[in-house]
Amino acid sequence: MTVFVIAGRTGNLKLPMTPTVGYLEERFDTFNRMCFDGALPRIPIKLSSARSFIGRLQYRPIRDWRGKVVRHEDFVLRISTRYDLPEAEVEDTLIHEMIHYWIAFNGIRDTSTHGRVFRAKMKEINGKHGRHLTISHKSTPEELDRDQRVTIHYFCVSQLADGRTALTVAASTRIRAIQRTFQWSPSVRSTAWYSSEDPWFNRFPRCRSPKLFPVEPAELAPHLEGASPLR
Ligand SMILES: [Zn+2]
Repeated sequence: MTVFVIAGRTGNLKLPMTPTVGYLEERFDTFNRMCFDGALPRIPIKLSSARSFIGRLQYRPIRDWRGKVVRHEDFVLRISTRYDLPEAEVEDTLIHEMIHYWIAFNGIRDTSTHGRVFRAKMKEINGKHGRHLTISHKSTPEELDRDQRVTIHYFCVSQLADGRTALTVAASTRIRAIQRTFQWSPSVRSTAWYSSEDPWFNRFPRCRSPKLFPVEPAELAPHLEGASPLR
């Protein structure tokens, strides 16, 4: 039996997408049921063209006569459409903001913005639902381009049965096992392995299991030129 995982940047086979308000509202309702027992009232979700964030939750503290915050109101959840992110990453961003909302709505006191309560809830959701939420919002393409560490990468370029091209950056000790899985997978038509020190590959996780990250051939091509084929 071949166990075969196909993945976008964070877990499923979805291409970059630009979310709409209707899509985000539907996802909000789904994640509300899945991860928060349906306890979160709907709030306005707005699209933004911000470069500085992917998701952001805004709200207003309501204080009593002593100035103590008694609750939060006027919640607005904004998602930036500046970047074409894979769907799983858009979803993870939405859930991340929903944890902030869950904490503020329930008046829970956390140790910091992404404190103990936030991390515990994040861990629970990642574990239960196979998500890949992180404390820092996922990197924007510009941040990825700034990652210039030079290190050797071993990677596989696969032609998938559905016509797409996929990339797998592998841990050096896992190359053989991953190649064996690809060879027997009906989803993979052909594979070619390379090594390269191009920092562009830093943006991909170093896989220990067979995961495929669909890439645009045109985006990949310039980075294949300096790569050496492995045999
Ligand atoms: Zn946050």
